[in-house]
Amino acid sequence: MLEKIKRWILANIFRKHYYRTGKCKGCGECCTHIYVKHFKHVLQDEKEFERLQGLFGFYKGLKIIGKDDLGLIFECTHLDSETKRCKIHFFRPPICRRYPQEELFAMGGTLSDNCGFKMEPIIPFKDVLKSVEKKDKRKKIIRW
Ligand code: SF4
Ligand code: SF4
Repeated sequence: MLEKIKRWILANIFRKHYYRTGKCKGCGECCTHIYVKHFKHVLQDEKEFERLQGLFGFYKGLKIIGKDDLGLIFECTHLDSETKRCKIHFFRPPICRRYPQEELFAMGGTLSDNCGFKMEPIIPFKDVLKSVEKKDKRKKIIRW
């Protein structure tokens, strides 16, 4: 019941399409090879990144490790490279606490194969199909 209410709120109030299940396995993969979306664009410009580092705490911990067609690629300096654990876990930024969110997909991203989280559609595909078929049937009834 509680799960149903949660889904309803996510879909109808927050206009979300996915909800998060599972839990973090602490593999650290989402803290390396990171693309960062700032408002509506993925960061591509080093100068812009340097400017943002002075404004937001999260950016201060990032280090540029490359660049490709999508944008700058970062890794987080707070990740312990041996244990793969976050060194500031209890004080990690909100963006890390909320990870993963469905905006990830809008950027063309995916979850790592190892990730313990899954992003499940709030309305199962079979229900979407059923509702489309129902609408289609209604249209036909009106036409005939
Ligand atoms: S602050 Fe911690 S959780 Fe966030 S990206 Fe860095 S290592 Fe990962
Ligand atoms: S990739 Fe997934 S399981 Fe691994 S640290 Fe990130 S959130 Fe946790």
